[in-house]
Amino acid sequence: MRVLWFCIPAYGHTNPTIEVVRQLVSRGHEVRYYSFEEFRQKIEDTGAQFVACDAYLPPVSAKVERKLRNVSTTEMSVQSFRTVANLDPILSEEVASWQPDVVVTDSACFWGKLTAAKYSLPWVCSTTTFAFNEQSSKYMSHSAAEIADMVLGMPRLNREIRKLRPLGYKVKSALDIVTNKPDDNTIVYTSRLFQPCSETFDKEHYRFVGPSVCDVAPKDKSGRPLVYASLGTVINDRPGFYHALVAALGGSDADLLISCGKAFDPVRLGEVPGNVRVEHYVDQMEVLSRTSLFVTHCGMNSASEGMWMGVPELLFPLTGEQRAVARRVAEVGAGKLLEESVAKDSLALRNAVFAALADEQLRDGAAKMRDNLRSCAGPADAADFIEQVAGV
Ligand code: UDP
Repeated sequence: MRVLWFCIPAYGHTNPTIEVVRQLVSRGHEVRYYSFEEFRQKIEDTGAQFVACDAYLPPVSAKVERKLRNVSTTEMSVQSFRTVANLDPILSEEVASWQPDVVVTDSACFWGKLTAAKYSLPWVCSTTTFAFNEQSSKYMSHSAAEIADMVLGMPRLNREIRKLRPLGYKVKSALDIVTNKPDDNTIVYTSRLFQPCSETFDKEHYRFVGPSVCDVAPKDKSGRPLVYASLGTVINDRPGFYHALVAALGGSDADLLISCGKAFDPVRLGEVPGNVRVEHYVDQMEVLSRTSLFVTHCGMNSASEGMWMGVPELLFPLTGEQRAVARRVAEVGAGKLLEESVAKDSLALRNAVFAALADEQLRDGAAKMRDNLRSCAGPADAADFIEQVAGV
């Protein structure tokens, strides 16, 4: 079987696919993975063929770059539509000469979804967040700025859509591309229990395969508790939040490890107390194996990895999608929301952290979710599903 795989340039969307690709390759299938140089090694290590799309991303000004870093839906959609046009010649050549049996595409990857539709290829949607339909998208609460961005951006998006029509792409809207339709064959990297409104997704088309993680054995946590904080890999340049954490926990009875991402320079925090460490990037699963409390932005992967390791979470979401994940983690009892006002006040933040560390109910909730996520069928089930859709 020949699998043409597409993903956007994001760790959170790429990481969960890796074990599925490895499964397919180990079964003797050919996987050609269209991604970006940053992910080349990870993808090639699975045995898949890697194709770089970096040269096809449209050039962006510093202003647009800033908007993208702050997850402007309009800006991301404009860039995605332009990427579809840029990739069109090589993808039409690829489909004609390589003749894939099936396309697997990230749910937010416009060029993957539109290529499958243009050439009427069987396809599978790889959804690394929740599956979003009319019901479950009510879990997302957008800020006023996010709503303004979407509404004001509509005319620009329509202009980009009109440019794609002569190339053979029948596009209704950006929203129409990213939502999960009832009969789209879809892999979701979580459990039915964690997915909001899961009864609205049928068993024939939706496979909830569970988080796809690189597992690490839990370590002894009987010593000083470790509090691990991360805002993920995309929107993480938040000096105020890091300052508040250091002020709240510096010199306390807990250790603090912050993964601050590449954009923030830890030197800006000055000299930090001995129980605090700040890194640009850590091996998150290894860190979670010895963590007692995870302060997370609620990217779907981070929230899932924390629950997979049975670690209670303090939830500090920054976008609509992250707010949806945070709401669900709180509902299943594996985390507590951290209000913006508390996150700004070092004393209130210290109290919130130590209350969460002492909260037995929260520990039980996290353990329950650990068991639930670990009972999912995993990457092998996702690979079975892709074979089934391809008809092999
Ligand atoms: N991650 C990591 N080390 C870090 C920070 C993040 O390994 O220091 C990984 C994390 O384990 C997760 C991914 O990067 O798999 C982040 O994805 P998520 O969906 O949580 O958030 P995003 O970065 O997309 O906002």
